[in-house]
Amino acid sequence: MHTVKYGLFYDNHTHINNPDVGKDFDAEYFTDQIKRCGVDYLGFHARCNQGMAYYNTKIGTRHPSLTYDLFGKLADACKRKDIALVAYLNGGLSVMESVDHPEWCTLYMPGKEMHGKVTPYCYTMCYNSPYRDHLIAMIREIAENYPVNGFFIDCLQNFPCVCKRCVESMKKQGFDWSKLDDVVEHTRLSVIRLCEDISAEVRKIIPDPMLYFNSIPFGTVRDLDTFFDCECLPTGGWGYEFLPTMAHCIRNIRPEKQVLNMTGRFYAWGDFGGLRGANSLDYDMFYGLAHGMRPNLAGHFHPRGDKDEAVFDRLAEVYSHLRIYDDWHIGAKNLADVALLYPEHRLTLHQSKPITSAVRMLDELKVQFDLVFSEYEKEWDQYKLLILPEEITITDRMKERIRKHLAAGKAIIACGKNAAEALGDELGITYEGELDETTFYFTLSGAMTENIEQMIHSLYARAVKAKTTDAEFVAPLVRAYYKQEWNGIFAQYYIPPDKETDIPFLTKKQNRIWCSGDIFSGYYQRGALHLRTLLENYIKTVSGPLLLENINLPGFVRVTVQEQPGRINVNLIAYSPERRGETTVVEDAMAVIDGKFRLNLPGKNVKSVTLAPSGTSVEYSVNGDSVEITAPVFKGFALISLEVE
Ligand SMILES: [Zn+2]
Repeated sequence: MHTVKYGLFYDNHTHINNPDVGKDFDAEYFTDQIKRCGVDYLGFHARCNQGMAYYNTKIGTRHPSLTYDLFGKLADACKRKDIALVAYLNGGLSVMESVDHPEWCTLYMPGKEMHGKVTPYCYTMCYNSPYRDHLIAMIREIAENYPVNGFFIDCLQNFPCVCKRCVESMKKQGFDWSKLDDVVEHTRLSVIRLCEDISAEVRKIIPDPMLYFNSIPFGTVRDLDTFFDCECLPTGGWGYEFLPTMAHCIRNIRPEKQVLNMTGRFYAWGDFGGLRGANSLDYDMFYGLAHGMRPNLAGHFHPRGDKDEAVFDRLAEVYSHLRIYDDWHIGAKNLADVALLYPEHRLTLHQSKPITSAVRMLDELKVQFDLVFSEYEKEWDQYKLLILPEEITITDRMKERIRKHLAAGKAIIACGKNAAEALGDELGITYEGELDETTFYFTLSGAMTENIEQMIHSLYARAVKAKTTDAEFVAPLVRAYYKQEWNGIFAQYYIPPDKETDIPFLTKKQNRIWCSGDIFSGYYQRGALHLRTLLENYIKTVSGPLLLENINLPGFVRVTVQEQPGRINVNLIAYSPERRGETTVVEDAMAVIDGKFRLNLPGKNVKSVTLAPSGTSVEYSVNGDSVEITAPVFKGFALISLEVE
């Protein structure tokens, strides 16, 4: 299978009425420009979400204004110029097939129509209709007739279908076709079956294909995906929290599989005239590289085949910024000694506020962590500390693995109701129920007060009640005088704290901390620094020295540690997404003038510390297993490499 160094993905969905498809397309020019950017992998549309094919198909509909085999010309040029080509087909959407075969569409439950008309989702497909065989036949047709390396199948979402075929299938399988959850689950299983059939068909023709099924949660078909591609347009609806959450997680699903980091040169899908600045694209790409993800920038193909010279200039510019670090990024594996836990990904992961917040807090603290799915195969032996934010469903499998981790004498930090209910014995507490107030406070003492002022602090989130059994009562919850509500005559709006209570805010049993307050939700709500410092203090209290300890790098700097044979590489990323009106953007690279941190590397002997790629020496001092490093002044991105033995 092709291993991607630099990718490009071209979006291209063209309405039936466009009169000029392929009119000015020059496959030689296009592929020469791709080569100029140093790209070795291209994703390009063979059939779009409008149901239009761009190749000579006997099964589907070639765009009526296209007079030749556009995809074929491109495939031929890619082959000659050594560019791996993956054919894009939309799996879940197809206007043309829907208009010709309305019986192939999703039949939504009454009152559950999910999409409007002026959207690519105006028609969605039923995966149990003859569309299924039609899609597989087109895939086979392309695999047999064009030199493609594989397929990218898009939009395989759970469109809840209650057509006759699906209802009969649900009845047979024991689903309740009148319940939305059952219908969605039936569709999910139908999608998985479709992916299995596509994979089997492709493998008959391409023995070691590149194959990725998009728009279903990462990991759902992890044995069928031969690579992962993380689609994220930060200004196009995904925001700047999505990539960090996914970057920490995807690399653990199947550590041996390559992960691509897809973003657009534009601001949103369908934005033909957008061109993000180099700093903005650099940020996304450097963040991905620092997590082992290879770059995959997306462009928009003008259906006419316009020559977008300025776009290629920008893509070439960005990739030239990344390429100088190839020797340090290619083949590097991320190191992590902390795990953030989640059961498995069923569309909820990036919508989970506690998870999003935990990723942000740990990133800001420079903790080296993985986001791991407890239901998946990856072992947890490497982790010294598990973090279990509030609201996370604790499955039997997760509980069993947490117990094993604790039995090995390792640490956990857990919050809120679910942990108190499921892990009471392990945490030394008994859960006593939810608290009805709207506002909570807490006070701290001892080790927990480091860098936190001595005062009553706000939680900005819910808290629950528990009593200690064999845990230490570390800090009390402070209740408010009254609830924030209308009392019939007066608004109880201003809610001062009353007194410390005998309800614990924090408990500790050995190196197991439980917090009765939802601190991750609190940080998500207000970004209050005392909550992040508190998390830092928890970590210091239970885990011992972690792989990386921040000394004075600013909060906006992101740091990851990667390993190659004989080397430990530290990625320092300094950009700061800024809210501007209705969107959040990156314009500038930030300068970092003061950047000390410590690496704890037991068993490793540090021979040199240099800046890549120049090889300039970096100031450092060794103390036992620790090495304290002072990053030189840098802007945007720096890579510090330690030669070790
Ligand atoms: Zn159906």
